Parts: sequence; C-alpha cells; structure tokens
Amino acid sequence: MHESSIVESLIKNLEKKVLSENIYKIIKINLVVGETTGYMEESLVHYFESLPKATALKDSILQIKYIKPQLLCKKCNKNFERTRFSFECPDCGETGEMTKIGTEFYIDNIEVEI
Ligand SMILES: [Zn+2]
Repeated sequence: MHESSIVESLIKNLEKKVLSENIYKIIKINLVVGETTGYMEESLVHYFESLPKATALKDSILQIKYIKPQLLCKKCNKNFERTRFSFECPDCGETGEMTKIGTEFYIDNIEVEI
C-alpha cells in the first residue's frame, strides 16, 4: 500500500501551498505519474479522497496523466517506448537503457479559487 504514503505527502505539500499562497480552494490538481512508479490511478484517487485534508482540498479533483516508460538506444541515440515484454530498440534490436522518462511523480499545475 505504498500509494497511501505518497498521497499523504502530496496532500501535505498542497496544504502548505494553500497556506503560503492564501488559496481559498483547490479545484483541480493535474498530477503527472510515470508508469514505472507502479502507482495505480484508482488507488491514488481513492487515498486522495479518503485521507484527511484541509477544507481547501475537500472537493478537489485529482486528474492524473500517465507517462509511458522510455528506453534509450545508445546505437541509434534515440528514445523509444518500452513495450510490455521487450527492452529492444525497434530499429536495430539493441537492448535499451532505462531513462528517467516513466519515473515521474509531480504536480504539473493546479487550478485554484482565490
Ligand atoms: Zn537502436
């Protein structure tokens, strides 16, 4: 259940932002999550809705955008999307190296009511 702690710290960060920027209400949170993290959308939303949080966050909508993992082929010097069972470059067949793409977890932006 690692989603509960990551959502807890997400809520804490948002609560800090609410206080420091005098935000009345957060309408929507656009979150970017890499698929490599393994965080499931339904779990993230579930914890976001069920964990205790400040009034400004009570009715906020958590919108999640998933990023597909990408590997780097050193031979072709380009990134390619990883498929489920293969790490091989679609052009030359070389085994790709992991990149940071697909490991994201950050707030892209929030929509607020002041
Ligand atoms: Zn290649």
